[in-house]
Amino acid sequence: MSLYIGVDAGGTKVLAGEVTPEGHVVRAAHRRTPERDLPVADLEDAITEAMLEVAGGRPISGVGLALAGLVDAVGESVRFATHLPWREAPVRSSLAERWGCVVALDNDANCAALAERAFGAARGVGDVVMVTVGTGIGGALLSAGRLVRGRNGMAGEFGHMQVESEGLLCGCGLRGCWEQYASGDALVRAAGSTFVDGPAVTAAALDGDALAMAAFETVGDRLGVGLASLVAALDPELVVVGGGVSEAGDLLLDPARSAMARSLHGATHRFLPPVVAARCGPEAGVVGAALLARTQATA
Ligand SMILES: [Zn+2]
Repeated sequence: MSLYIGVDAGGTKVLAGEVTPEGHVVRAAHRRTPERDLPVADLEDAITEAMLEVAGGRPISGVGLALAGLVDAVGESVRFATHLPWREAPVRSSLAERWGCVVALDNDANCAALAERAFGAARGVGDVVMVTVGTGIGGALLSAGRLVRGRNGMAGEFGHMQVESEGLLCGCGLRGCWEQYASGDALVRAAGSTFVDGPAVTAAALDGDALAMAAFETVGDRLGVGLASLVAALDPELVVVGGGVSEAGDLLLDPARSAMARSLHGATHRFLPPVVAARCGPEAGVVGAALLARTQATA
């Protein structure tokens, strides 16, 4: 049987998994992402180790890489990544040579959107806005069921839409990006110093902690205001919200839905797209990346 592996390389963790044609992850391995000031070789070694652990000595048909960064339009190079050391690096061909198999490369939110379209919340839907709310905000756009990549391959970087011209400094170097107000980092900031990270805020909010619930109200509201802009611009059929913070479900999505309806131009005269939680879970990037590799290998 053909072996396709998806790898999601994010700012904190490298997750690799064997993915079946039905989109199930049947075997997984992970490594901590090396600090970003370490050489690229350290990161590529961590990815290789996780991938080989999953393969377990079996021949590999293809590997898909989902990366938290800007990938060019042809899936060859990583142009820039806020949390990873690659800069203008031909990652696809160098890893294909090292591993001796088909390698596909794409942005992590693009991969998550492919997974949701094939197996999850966007199944059968043509025009979809996907927003992944994790440490930051990623995004992807599907039109007639296909990814819209744009001239540079950089379409869908919704997290870096500037929503405050003199706002908070973002990891990308600009100020006032949407992800500074509606991401996991923003959630932790809104909740105050009692909580160490996003999952801690989520757990407390689910337990009824007033401070944590108020943080979700604040961040969900900012998320919804941004979604209203995206819907005004793109008029999609469906909005899918994924990423770690979306695991809080309606705690995040209810205030987002209200704010979107309140902030959207002509809201009472139009079809309002449902805002739904992603269904492929934290492995969506892995599933979408493997699907990309399978598609390229069998094209
Ligand atoms: Zn930014």
